Amino acid sequence: MATRRAFLGTTLALALDAWRPATAAGTRVVLDRLQPGIYVARAANAEATRANAGAVVPSLVHVTRAGVLVVDPGPQAAWGGALLGAIRALTTQPVRWVVNTHAHPEHVLANTAFAGLRPRPQFLASAATAALMRQRCEACLASLSAQLGPAAVRGTAIVLPEPALQDGAWLHTGDTAWRVQVHAPAHSASDTVLYAPQRRLLCAGGLAYRERVPEMQEASLQGWRQALRQLTTLPADTVVATATGTPAQTLVPTLAYLDALANGIGAALAAGHDANQAADAVAAGPFRHWRHFPTRHPLNLQRAWRQLEDAWMQGEPPA
Ligand SMILES: [Zn+2]
Repeated sequence: MATRRAFLGTTLALALDAWRPATAAGTRVVLDRLQPGIYVARAANAEATRANAGAVVPSLVHVTRAGVLVVDPGPQAAWGGALLGAIRALTTQPVRWVVNTHAHPEHVLANTAFAGLRPRPQFLASAATAALMRQRCEACLASLSAQLGPAAVRGTAIVLPEPALQDGAWLHTGDTAWRVQVHAPAHSASDTVLYAPQRRLLCAGGLAYRERVPEMQEASLQGWRQALRQLTTLPADTVVATATGTPAQTLVPTLAYLDALANGIGAALAAGHDANQAADAVAAGPFRHWRHFPTRHPLNLQRAWRQLEDAWMQGEPPA
């Protein structure tokens, strides 16, 4: 385990820094092996932009004798097609399961690349994620197209998952059993986690970040903190989320950032300060070097302030 941790901490991080995602025209997906049968797609540890064509999610691929599991296939058809090509280079096993952890476009719109496979894989999500995707995937695709440019999303059609993943259930893929957790709301309205205890592996979707300021546009600050407090109690060596790393590199710092928001703003509200003082209230020093700090952190301050102020008005003590 120690060597695996060292690998994640150094070699993989360096490799990721050196790697630049291709544009839609020449999309290439590289799968890095994490464990026997478990791979993650190299992706930019960044927010989706035109330059990275939305290739910002390290899709997890699990090759078993009973078929292949893909968790969060990515942002668009070209990436999904290239991911499928990389899977084909590893195995002739059919893709049997595609899991969507939450309804954010860069995680799920590459479903389209797997929908034409025969036999057709099962597309799986929590009931809330499936409902949300049904409700808004068209709008998400339009906004992703505006964000990345129409060329990047060419050929991307909406493929909806079944509302089949329930909190506390198990998903069996070959010899591996994944415990399903559904946290709602947390990073988004509903975030699904897959946890394989015997592999000490946690697939945490949008719930964990690494050296990057979390995106809280649809987040519940308190719900997300609660989810992370639970996840940090699980025996795990590796977390695959918006980046890959150990729990200490992903879950712990993400929770520390959210705690800093909650504690700083809670104290400022108790002292009768107003929202203009939010930036001074939060001890953000440890997070200043994280990616997207100048743009993302001020938005998070606003959102966290609004949520905690509402709770405060309703008589809930700041947690
Ligand atoms: Zn997300």
